[in-house]
Amino acid sequence: MKEIKILGAGISGLTAAINLAKNGKSVKVFEIKSCVGKGTHPSVNAFVGNGIAYFEEILKKCNLSDLEYPKNEIKKIRIVTKNNDVVFDDYVKSYLVTRGKKNSIEYNLYNLAKKYGVEFEFNTKLKEHDVDIVATGPNKSDVVVYGRVYKNTSFPKDQIIVVRFDKYSPNGWYMYTVPHENGNVEIINCMATRHSNNAKKLFIKAIEELECFKTSLENAEQLYEISGFGNVKYPKTCVIDGRLYVGEAAGIQDVLYGYGMHYALLSGKIASDSIILEKHYDDMWKKELSFEMKKSFAMRFIVSLFGNKIADMYITQKIRGSNNIGEKIENSIINNKYILEVLFRLELLKKKITGEW
Ligand SMILES: Cc1cc2nc3c(=O)[nH]c(=O)nc-3n(C[C@H](O)[C@H](O)[C@H](O)COP(=O)(O)OP(=O)(O)OC[C@H]3O[C@@H](n4cnc5c(N)ncnc54)[C@H](O)[C@@H]3O)c2cc1C
Repeated sequence: MKEIKILGAGISGLTAAINLAKNGKSVKVFEIKSCVGKGTHPSVNAFVGNGIAYFEEILKKCNLSDLEYPKNEIKKIRIVTKNNDVVFDDYVKSYLVTRGKKNSIEYNLYNLAKKYGVEFEFNTKLKEHDVDIVATGPNKSDVVVYGRVYKNTSFPKDQIIVVRFDKYSPNGWYMYTVPHENGNVEIINCMATRHSNNAKKLFIKAIEELECFKTSLENAEQLYEISGFGNVKYPKTCVIDGRLYVGEAAGIQDVLYGYGMHYALLSGKIASDSIILEKHYDDMWKKELSFEMKKSFAMRFIVSLFGNKIADMYITQKIRGSNNIGEKIENSIINNKYILEVLFRLELLKKKITGEW
């Protein structure tokens, strides 16, 4: 039986490997680092959607119902905008995913892959043209992230904070805090690549100026920095010379918020299904992912046009319980395929002209 070779032991590569092995294929994963999870800082990420139930739904879709995972769901979210500072008790239920260390999603996927007989080679020198699936993560920077992990903070441990200020996260991007299970807290700022040289400065300005950070960091000690970048595009094809590109190696990411984990899981599953079913990968991922991706491009076009003013307005109306214009815009995009297509194409054009999302 031909061995299927996968480059990269991140979320997308491991998902593809497990699904192939469960379907009787012989699989080997080649990872450049010395173990899984080393490509990511020890951190905690939020899974898109409505809490743990949505995470489980995606796992089921990805043939991963037997994956072990901690039940780490947070219901409280504090949102800080120019005119609002409000805590919602059950607005977005965030499912928190540990990354890059023991008990992380990568480690648990790795253990499952080994259970199904997937072989691994670490410190590999293999190149893309030697493999069947390329799962090597972002290879260029469209969005940058800078943050820090602190201990001894007084942030509430049952809450995440989202901060929407263009002054610190220009063009409608955002900052957030996430509590770690050991009591540490990470603060992250996301922005377009143009601001990468200023990323640290903008972060420091925000934590020094904003009350929501200042008070909770009074006696805190900085442990380490987190930096990274995201590769986002709407790929014309994810197949090059017969190789299948998955996750961020393909640019399959969420251009609105950077929620890439579910796309990594889903694209890994779809690529492996295309091998198992001998169907064309491009047809399959476009059918499954294109609507959600296009929606995020369309929404990013609107958000970058108005900046975080739109988030401020959205929250003000949410508090008042009035007819929410943000929800109206979102619904009109979802319900009208022509509007969706136009805004999606405008965002692609904007990226061509300005060089950024
Ligand atoms: C700071 C930060 C915060 C984030 N927060 C969130 C969040 O809150 N929620 C969310 O959903 N998403 C988040 N993301 C995005 C998410 O992490 C990615 O979209 C997701 O990890 C992509 O998975 P992947 O498998 O495509 O790539 P990766 O997870 O990057 O895995 C790629 C793997 O390939 C290996 N590799 C690289 N090059 C080679 C090579 N040449 N040969 C062999 N192996 C190679 C790497 O070492 C790594 O193990 C965040 C990203 C960053 C940087």
